Amino acid sequence: MAHQLRNDVARMQEAGIFVDPSAVKVDFDKVMERVRKIRAEISHHDSATRYSKELGVDLFIGRGKFTSERTVVVNGRTLHFKRAVIATGAYPTMIPMEGLKELHDLATAWQPQERGTGEPRPAVITNETFFNLTQQPTHMVVIGAGVIGMELAQAMQRLGTPTTVLGRSGRVLPKEDEDMADIVRKQMIEDGVTFLLSVDRYERIELTGKVSSSGLPEMKITLNVSENGSVAGPPTEIICDAVLVAAGRRPNVTGIDLELAKVEYDTKLGLIVNDRLQTTNSRIYGVGDCAQQYKFTHAADFTARAVIRNAFFFGKEKLSDLLPLPQPKLRVSVFMDLTWKKRVSNSTSSRNISGTMIDPSVTVRRQASSVFESMRRRIPSLVRLLSVKAQRT
Ligand SMILES: Cc1cc2nc3c(=O)[nH]c(=O)nc-3n(C[C@H](O)[C@H](O)[C@H](O)COP(=O)(O)OP(=O)(O)OC[C@H]3O[C@@H](n4cnc5c(N)ncnc54)[C@H](O)[C@@H]3O)c2cc1C
Repeated sequence: MAHQLRNDVARMQEAGIFVDPSAVKVDFDKVMERVRKIRAEISHHDSATRYSKELGVDLFIGRGKFTSERTVVVNGRTLHFKRAVIATGAYPTMIPMEGLKELHDLATAWQPQERGTGEPRPAVITNETFFNLTQQPTHMVVIGAGVIGMELAQAMQRLGTPTTVLGRSGRVLPKEDEDMADIVRKQMIEDGVTFLLSVDRYERIELTGKVSSSGLPEMKITLNVSENGSVAGPPTEIICDAVLVAAGRRPNVTGIDLELAKVEYDTKLGLIVNDRLQTTNSRIYGVGDCAQQYKFTHAADFTARAVIRNAFFFGKEKLSDLLPLPQPKLRVSVFMDLTWKKRVSNSTSSRNISGTMIDPSVTVRRQASSVFESMRRRIPSLVRLLSVKAQRT
């Protein structure tokens, strides 16, 4: 809204109507309060009350841990199951940087009710704590140029906090198509975001001992920037009073004694599941962020629906059905035979995940879909060509 208003003010000037742009002020505390209020309002939908009282689900609140292939314990109570679903989600990862973990621990020990009491805590945050911010930083550094980092960086910049995004791959949104990512980068540069996308090494982060004008402890980040694959020049120092670590999320698969349930997992990739979303214990399914490389709400939703059908209603839903376009099966298999079959079976990483069948099948179908897409694109020119030939004859 603040950004739109500022833009509108600029546009109004072109029409001869003058409003002082500096009159648009942001009360950051109020903005964040409104966000939290909206979250609270919609939270009923996913609340324990709704599930237990309205939908009749028996709810046991606490950290669940497996004790065998057929039992799970919550708060000392053992539950026996015929089927189980693991939906533990993912957590934000910290990057290796001297001092980062310590400052993050110090920041997360802080509770909103402590406001105004004692020493101010450093704002070293992740997506889990971002929405607890109450003071508007004077300069925010976002580590990670993926979807979460970019989304929150743009929001902060547009609310009036100068924001710097740090990345290592030389580009933003490295998982997306380069031309699309570039549109986002250009827009954000226009918004005022600064990018430093060739970080070679994050050396350290430390408190400077000063407090910024917004009352947050000031920090100094020291890093090395690379150029053509080697470290360029002396270390770069950045002063800021907030750091958002958005360097990826890892599946929550540890601390739940999956070994006792005979469920195999990889700490980076998550639960090993087959195309029907069963883990290596066929009675236990894995859905959402803890079992998939595509960590999105709609992907979690798809897998949850599929598992309900598969586990309870003899369904035959497949993860590989989560496709961008419907594919004629014959062509997919012909294409796979021609190009991918060999590569897939030779690739160790694919085989590792191929317990899961996620990567090979999705990649194969994606490849196939791009072929069909290019065929589709060529059809109009083919039709034109044929009609020209028809006119000539
Ligand atoms: C900042 C941010 C922005 C995002 N924006 C988008 C977006 O615009 N579009 C989109 O599609 N996706 C978005 N996502 C991703 C989306 O939020 C996730 O993909 C989705 O929430 C995954 O659902 P899930 O059920 O797998 O996991 P979660 O929603 O993380 O739920 C997992 C739950 O399991 C609980 N849990 C963990 N361990 C245990 C245990 N041992 N016992 C009991 N409970 C446990 C956790 O406390 C948590 O409540 C965003 C994510 C973030 C962080």
